[in-house]
Amino acid sequence: MDFTLTDDQLLIQQTFQDFCAKELNYEYVRWMDEHVDFPPDDLWQKFVDIGLLSGPVPVEYGGQGMGMVDTMIAYEQLCKASMSVALAVGVTTGFGVRFINELGTTEQKKTYLPMIAEGKFKTCMALTEPGGGTDILGALSTGAEDKGDTWLINGQKVFITGAHAADCLFTICKTERDAKRARSWSTIMVPRDTPGVTIRKIGKISCHHCESVEIFYDNVEVPKANTIGTRGNAFYEIMTVLNPERIGVAMMGVGIIAAIYEQCFKYVQERHAFGGPISRFQILQTYLADMYVNLENARNLTYKAAWLCDHGQPYHLEATMAKLVAAEGARHAGTFGAEIFGGYGICNDYPVSMFARDAYQIQFSPISNEMSRNMLMQFQGLPKSWA
Ligand SMILES: Cc1cc2nc3c(=O)[nH]c(=O)nc-3n(C[C@H](O)[C@H](O)[C@H](O)COP(=O)(O)OP(=O)(O)OC[C@H]3O[C@@H](n4cnc5c(N)ncnc54)[C@H](O)[C@@H]3O)c2cc1C
Repeated sequence: MDFTLTDDQLLIQQTFQDFCAKELNYEYVRWMDEHVDFPPDDLWQKFVDIGLLSGPVPVEYGGQGMGMVDTMIAYEQLCKASMSVALAVGVTTGFGVRFINELGTTEQKKTYLPMIAEGKFKTCMALTEPGGGTDILGALSTGAEDKGDTWLINGQKVFITGAHAADCLFTICKTERDAKRARSWSTIMVPRDTPGVTIRKIGKISCHHCESVEIFYDNVEVPKANTIGTRGNAFYEIMTVLNPERIGVAMMGVGIIAAIYEQCFKYVQERHAFGGPISRFQILQTYLADMYVNLENARNLTYKAAWLCDHGQPYHLEATMAKLVAAEGARHAGTFGAEIFGGYGICNDYPVSMFARDAYQIQFSPISNEMSRNMLMQFQGLPKSWA
C-alpha cells in the first residue's frame, strides 16, 4: 500500500492550493456569500484558465482526462476554501461530464464536452421531487410524454443545486407509463431557457453562493434527441453519476473539517483567558484532537473510494462510508469549532461560522446519514428499509 502522492499529484495539489489562496481568500468568499447566488463569471473564467473545468473531460474532447484521485486532489483545495464554489463546479464537472461521457452518444460528447472544458456549458441534475428524496423511486412523478419527435414534460423538482445558473438541466422523468417503476425513467437534457421552465429560489442557511432551487416544468417541449442514455433505464444508469457524487460530497466534508481545524488551531494559541492562551485547556484540545482524527479518517476513506473508482472496482459502499464520516466530522467541526471561538464563532467576520452553516447541507444530501447507515447494513444482508 502506498499513500504517497506522485510528483504530478503534488504539483496539482500545490497549484490549486496557490490558486485558492489567491482567488478564494475568505474576504472574497464572504463577499460572494453575502451578494451572489452562484460564482461570478470572472471567477468562472479563472477556473477555465487553470484547467479546473477541463480536468475530468477526456483528452479527445478537449480535456485532461484526469481520474478521480487527481480530480479530488484539486477539489480538496477548493472544498477547503468554499463549499459553495466546490458545489458550483461539481454540478458541472461531476454531473455534466459523467452524464454525457458515460451515457451520451458520440454526437452529444462531441458537442457538449468541449463546451464544458471551455466553461461555456453549465449543468445540474434535477432528480429530487417534493414527494421525497430518499424514496425517489416512489416519489418521482415528473412525466415526459412521447410526442413523436419531442418530449412534453410536466412536473416539479426541488433542491436542485445550480439550476438557476445552468445551461442544461439533466431532468429525470417518468417516460414509460406501463413499465415497472425501476424501468420507467429516462434522463432528458432540458435547456434552462426552454419555454415553460420556471425557477424559484428556496433560500437556505447554507452555501449561499451556490443556491439550490425549485424547477417547475409546464408543458416543456424538447427534442427526443435530448435523451441521454437508454430510454426507460435511467434509474440504473444514474448510479454512474450518483456514486461519484458521494465521493465529491465527502471531499466537501473533508474541506470543511480541514478549514475549521486550521482556524481553530491558530485561534487557541492567540486567544488568552485567565492569564494564558486557551490552547492549554484540555477540553479544547479534545475538540481539536477529535477534528484531527475525523479529518484523517474522512480523507482516507474519500481517497480510497476515489482510488477504487479509478481502478474499476466497486466503490459504492466506500463512497457512502466516506460521505457519512465526512459529513458527521464536518458537523462536529462546525459545532465545536464555533465553541472554540466563543461568541465570535457565530460572527460573519470569522470563517468558522460559514463553514459550520455549510456543514448542515451534507448531512442529508445527496444521501441522508440515516439512509447511509441503513444502506451499509442492508448491503451486509440485514432487512431492507427500501423496496
Ligand atoms: C441544499 C440541498 C441541495 C440538493 N441538491 C440536489 C441536486 O442538485 N439535485 C437533486 O436531484 N437533489 C438535490 N438535493 C436533494 C437531496 O438529495 C435530498 O434532500 C435527499 O435525498 C433527502 O431527501 P428529502 O430531503 O426529501 O428527505 P426525506 O427523504 O423526506 O427524508 C426525511 C427523513 O427520513 C429519513 N429516511 C427516509 N427514508 C429512510 C430510510 N429508508 N431509512 C432511514 N431513514 C430514512 C431521512 O434520513 C430523513 O431523516 C439537495 C438537497 C438539499 C437540501
